[in-house]
Amino acid sequence: MGHSGLPPARPLGRNDPVSEPHAFCRRGESPPADTVTTHQVHGSAVLYVAGTPPVPAAEQGDALITDQPGVAVGVRTADCQPLLLSARNGAVVAAVHAGWRGTVEGITTATVDVFRRRFGVQPEEIDALLGPSIRPCCYEVGPEVADQVRTRFPRFADRVIGTFRSGRPTLDVATLNRLQLEAAGVRSIHDQGGCTHCGTGYESYRRDGDAAGRMVAWIRCATTP
Ligand SMILES: [Zn+2]
Repeated sequence: MGHSGLPPARPLGRNDPVSEPHAFCRRGESPPADTVTTHQVHGSAVLYVAGTPPVPAAEQGDALITDQPGVAVGVRTADCQPLLLSARNGAVVAAVHAGWRGTVEGITTATVDVFRRRFGVQPEEIDALLGPSIRPCCYEVGPEVADQVRTRFPRFADRVIGTFRSGRPTLDVATLNRLQLEAAGVRSIHDQGGCTHCGTGYESYRRDGDAAGRMVAWIRCATTP
């Protein structure tokens, strides 16, 4: 399918399964000017984007999904987990901002549900990409966070909770989202990796505080069915 006139896709790696234009921007990189974003609140609401500009200012949410040809949706992150989801034919795409709260609330599972219920896209027809985020090498969390993960995802806890050098817990948010995708039936999952805190070229709120910028993860719906 053709994308002439659209920004080029940024190659993510040889296992990258998504053909639609998309990127996990790094520090200083800008998304296409027409990328639709919204006010993110670390929740689990999935917003439907019906055009440009489609999201009323009053709407808040942490996942944007669209089936509108040529529309790009994006989320801003600086340590939180960005995910890009695409129906294999590119006709439905979504960008997800998954911080630990949204992850515990199941925002990724909720987004996969919207693909199926609203658009008839089955989980096995979805390609999922995970971008850079703060990884367990650096993501020390409070015991109350680990407790919430154990309560909400008892089967996954041992695989995503570790111990930091301080003795406090670590949380692997990327893996917790991947496990949610697998549990929902998504099979095509690619994790680009990258730790925003100790890697170079990323924005990290935990490292830089209020001085941290934000990176945009964006994906554009196919222009032709
Ligand atoms: Zn790290």
